[in-house]
Amino acid sequence: MSYSPFRHTISIFRKRSPIQLTFFITGRCNATCPFCFYLSDRDLSSGNRPELSLDEIRRISSSMGRLLWLAFSGGEIFLREDIVEIAEVFYKNNRPSIILFPTNGLMTEVIRKKIEAVLKCCGKSTITVKLSLEGTEDIHDSIRGKGSFHRTMKTYDSLSGLLDIYPNFELGINTVFCSANQDNMDDVIEFVKGLDRIRTHTVSLIRGTVADPGLKEVDIGKYRRTIDKLAANLRNKASGIYRFKGGKIKAAQDILQRRMIHETFVQNRALVPCYAGRLNLVLTESGDVYPCESFTMKLGNVRDNGYDIEEILKNRENRNIINSIRDNGCFCTHECYMMTNILFNPRVYPKLLKEYMQL
Ligand code: SF4
Repeated sequence: MSYSPFRHTISIFRKRSPIQLTFFITGRCNATCPFCFYLSDRDLSSGNRPELSLDEIRRISSSMGRLLWLAFSGGEIFLREDIVEIAEVFYKNNRPSIILFPTNGLMTEVIRKKIEAVLKCCGKSTITVKLSLEGTEDIHDSIRGKGSFHRTMKTYDSLSGLLDIYPNFELGINTVFCSANQDNMDDVIEFVKGLDRIRTHTVSLIRGTVADPGLKEVDIGKYRRTIDKLAANLRNKASGIYRFKGGKIKAAQDILQRRMIHETFVQNRALVPCYAGRLNLVLTESGDVYPCESFTMKLGNVRDNGYDIEEILKNRENRNIINSIRDNGCFCTHECYMMTNILFNPRVYPKLLKEYMQL
């Protein structure tokens, strides 16, 4: 039996402990993408501070409750040699329903070997790999470096076979929408539609402080056309949905989430309350804890707090920070947080139901 996402329905009413953890497991990377918000800001990635060891991670994980969603991030996460052991620690302690492995897909053999090991040791969690693809070959290579398109496609081929062996495996593609690829979106969506082993194609709107600020000068009308196309493909079954229990709800939420991100961008205001700090938490490779990836509201470092996340969250000053997110109507366009803000907010359910009924 898998760890069902529906075990977390209580969090719709009680938002007391994080169920979504984003863990930046390394600040190292084998690429220099111009839209990376994490590595363009050296204060965020570890600099000279050592990465958390497996032992330290074990202590952190033991201080947390059950997770719905564990998302690894970086850097290139597969540069971390003990990524399988890290996943296993969280699997045993926190039983995540979904574990997300986003990757640039450049290290085919390493990724295949590590993901197969994770699939073997984390059998009750859905293991999702998201390959980054920023466009068709020319556009992708102009953003991510010459030859990277072919290397990512090689990884796609290599991982595809695992879908037949492991029913808990999901393989998807994510594209960062920016000014450099906004005119290539129709083509990349068509290209991904033709990859018959890809279940889901998601598009993230560029965010944060990036090395090339020109990439953030997006035409929001083109973003709207892109998300409408993704929604139409889901509705007419031209695109697949996740295989896990609740996959159709997730697809409905994806459609609604992208529309709300568009509306938040256009209206420049909060459309729904944000649950960052209450349901979501971010941990960096050197142990800093934040409510979210805006990285502006540091709650502390686990190394100064006995590796105890609950202890950090109990701190009165931190409670004030987390309450201020709600009270001051903080808003942004980050997909991961919008996801929680939709799925755990009953006021949004009529809209979610409407999307669900059209799938
Ligand atoms: S709205 Fe965005 S920036 Fe504000 S707390 Fe939520 S996730 Fe962070």
